Amino acid sequence: GQTVGILGGGQLGRMLAVAASRLGLRTHVYDPAPGGPAAQVAQDVTTAGWDDTEALAAFADSVDVVTYEFENIPTDALDVIESKCPIRPSREALRVSQDRLTEKEFLAGLGLGTAPFAAVHDAASLDAALERIGTPAILKTRRFGYDGKGQARIGDPTEAAQALEAMSGAPALLEGFVPFDREISVIAARGLSGDVACFDPGENVHAEGILRTTTVPAALSEARRTDAVLMAARILNALDYVGVMGVELFVTADALLVNEIAPRVHNSGHWTQNGCAVDQFEQHVRAIAGWPLGDGQRHSDVVMENLIGDEVDRVPALSREADTALHLYGKDAARPGRKMGHVNRIRR
Ligand code: ATP
Ligand code: MG
Ligand code: MG
Repeated sequence: GQTVGILGGGQLGRMLAVAASRLGLRTHVYDPAPGGPAAQVAQDVTTAGWDDTEALAAFADSVDVVTYEFENIPTDALDVIESKCPIRPSREALRVSQDRLTEKEFLAGLGLGTAPFAAVHDAASLDAALERIGTPAILKTRRFGYDGKGQARIGDPTEAAQALEAMSGAPALLEGFVPFDREISVIAARGLSGDVACFDPGENVHAEGILRTTTVPAALSEARRTDAVLMAARILNALDYVGVMGVELFVTADALLVNEIAPRVHNSGHWTQNGCAVDQFEQHVRAIAGWPLGDGQRHSDVVMENLIGDEVDRVPALSREADTALHLYGKDAARPGRKMGHVNRIRR
């Protein structure tokens, strides 16, 4: 049988491995940290660093296709792997989405709306950017940010210096603050033959930069729903993408703006596990393994709620709730802000 290689060992890798296993495929997880969520469920595990050329080569030799569950895999590691087996989604998708500036330029180049943005590397470029974009605005590190980390709000120009300091010298991007009515995301899939299938857009609520809930269906007009799906499909086609992508959008009174894209399965797509016959994880595995995409039609209304930090203590109570599916990641230490699991509540 085929073996799927997964780079990264967190909960997304775990749920990908479970989906692959259900399809009768083997999985081999590569993760620098031992015993993580994905390593606990994979058939094969390599625990080695991203600079371990020998381990990377042996890993790539042992699998038929490699995918990843996070964006920040070093280029050198990808070079080693790509000389031996296909990486799906492609490196171009990683390159574009690893850097917020490249990503925004790519989206704008497709004619898609985004927040106004400008590159910032020092006080002078920040002043120029604020002059053009105005306040309120958000300064974000161009690379490595997630769950709202590496971001600083600039309410008025007097807060500029402090925000720049928060970047610790890293290259940054200033974005105009979008006064959105709501946030949605489209979980979109594209197969090896170029067919595209999108899950129904979900409505996302964040607190302190971290996703709290996703609700389907999102409160959207039919026209907006169609536009959101078409925008996502356009992004996937432009990248000749293979796999599942998360496309985050802001909904304002008169526009749909793309916030960011993630070239992987996405937290805001977890509802699909209990809302569709084929969920985002199976869809991703099907796509990268060259299978036909599955039926991702939504059959139920669902509210997904993340269990963050010590919220995992609610599991005994949650486990007694009707119409509630528990998904736990096998992490032991409930540090603040750490995603420990989620529940999908089915609302018929
Ligand atoms: P993720 O964990 O989704 O990768 P991230 O760290 O990459 O998060 P963003 O998605 O850029 O962060 O921002 C997190 C949240 O902060 C957004 O979902 C949104 O609620 C808010 N936000 C970010 N940028 C803007 C903006 N330009 N205008 C208004 N709100 C914003
Ligand atoms: Mg992000
Ligand atoms: Mg985001």
